Amino acid sequence: MSLSPSLSPSLIERFAAIVGPGNALTDPSDTQGFTHEHRDLYQATTPLVLRPGTKEEVAAILKLATETKTAIIPQGGNTGLTGGQVPLAEGPPAVILSLSRMNRILDIDAIGGTMTVEAGVVLQTIQESAAEVGKLFPLSLGAEGSCQIGGNLSTNAGGTAVLAYGNTRQLCLGLEVVLPTGEVWTALRKLKKDNTGYDLRDLFIGAEGTLGVITAAVLKLFPMPAGREVAIVGLTSPDAALKLFRHAEALSGSALTAFELMARIGVEFTARHIDGVRDPFAEPHDWYVLIEISSNLSADAARHQMEALLSASLEDGTVDDAVVAQNETQAQQFWHMREALSWAQKPEGGSIKHDISVPVAAIPAFLAQAEPLVQAIVPGARIVAFGHLGDGNIHYNISQPVGADRETFLARWDAVSAKVHALALSFGGSISAEHGIGQMKRDELAAIRAPIEIDLMQRIKAAFDPAGIMNPGKVLQTR
Ligand code: FAD
Repeated sequence: MSLSPSLSPSLIERFAAIVGPGNALTDPSDTQGFTHEHRDLYQATTPLVLRPGTKEEVAAILKLATETKTAIIPQGGNTGLTGGQVPLAEGPPAVILSLSRMNRILDIDAIGGTMTVEAGVVLQTIQESAAEVGKLFPLSLGAEGSCQIGGNLSTNAGGTAVLAYGNTRQLCLGLEVVLPTGEVWTALRKLKKDNTGYDLRDLFIGAEGTLGVITAAVLKLFPMPAGREVAIVGLTSPDAALKLFRHAEALSGSALTAFELMARIGVEFTARHIDGVRDPFAEPHDWYVLIEISSNLSADAARHQMEALLSASLEDGTVDDAVVAQNETQAQQFWHMREALSWAQKPEGGSIKHDISVPVAAIPAFLAQAEPLVQAIVPGARIVAFGHLGDGNIHYNISQPVGADRETFLARWDAVSAKVHALALSFGGSISAEHGIGQMKRDELAAIRAPIEIDLMQRIKAAFDPAGIMNPGKVLQTR
């Protein structure tokens, strides 16, 4: 199965004719925004970016691509963190297929609790449209102003509300997908229960554009909570944070809608680099947790639960200090600090990122054992650990030592990751909790999963995409 080694001008013209000249970009100054992701980790080019406006155009593009063995990379908001949405530096040229123009909300059913959208709708627009009819679409992540629902589905994104509502897979009822052959599979069903054969929907969710192009989806909406309380607590250790989590879970159950751990250095970075962020405490603490409790009953009910949790935890010494947001503006400021952590590392120089998960109870041991492994390789490395403690998911990010050379530091990425990932695996964990595999972890996936598992994935890939045009070299090695 070999892909076309080049894209002739006449083939570019045939692709361009499908979307119209204004929506086919070839000039590097126009395509650059699609080939570079914000971390500057991947440098590659594309001969062509296509911006279809309908599923029929997507179908025509994929049909032609299969016929001519042209590689296609679906792209949403280009916020992915494993390089799945941008070209490989080596290999055959790939056409980027941007879903941005397919951004219509097709239907909102407030009674049935569903929203049907095209794949290019930006996540924040979905959240706002749900709120306009008094509903909640709970998927929430730092890139929500630019990532698209097609990208969220394709990476099975997690974010800060997984604890109560699940990841994107759990928020999707139906899909419409254009297959690499150009056939369209329409299953925009609104059913919560549907045991009718193999679940094709679940194959496309999290496939990172390697099986087809998601063009529309039916999403689940939830009742908008009547009240929410947001607090930040300071504590001494991840052990204390785990104890607090167990307490919060026992007290609030599914009303506990977020529990986000942050190491002190991350709070320092955000206060230093992000406008409007400041440490909410007068005295520094080694660890911080952002807690959100929601209630469908009333704002008072949420407040009472938060007060009960915090007073008991201050009294028994689990928590050293706590600040409860006094109004919605302050609640948003607390969230801003947590979400800005993703951006605040960049001004501090090179950053080696991990997205590991371990069983929740193993988080303190993981954090304790990982640091000496990293320091042995890069003395002075600054560990910016943060994340979704309640999901067992830590972004174990490592900023370069102060004054170090960025490139020399980043050259240690593989050595550091090998240790961090091996440790996570030793706890029965994962090397990618929510960001996917993309190009970054492709070879590692092949190394850590059983051959039978990789072979089954390859067989699924071959069944859906016989010409191997869909995002080749991502997730799986090309056969
Ligand atoms: P892209 O980056 O464009 O694409 C991602 C992958 O999906 C690629 O493989 C691409 O080929 C494929 N794809 C995109 N659209 C389609 C489609 N319509 N059909 C088929 N394949 C498609 N992720 C989390 O899970 N949790 C977080 O908390 C989180 N926080 C983040 C914070 C920041 C500041 C940033 C920059 C990123 C964060 N991410 C997080 C990662 C990223 O936002 C998610 O992976 C997001 O779901 C990607 O959406 P996107 O539209 O940008 O997709």
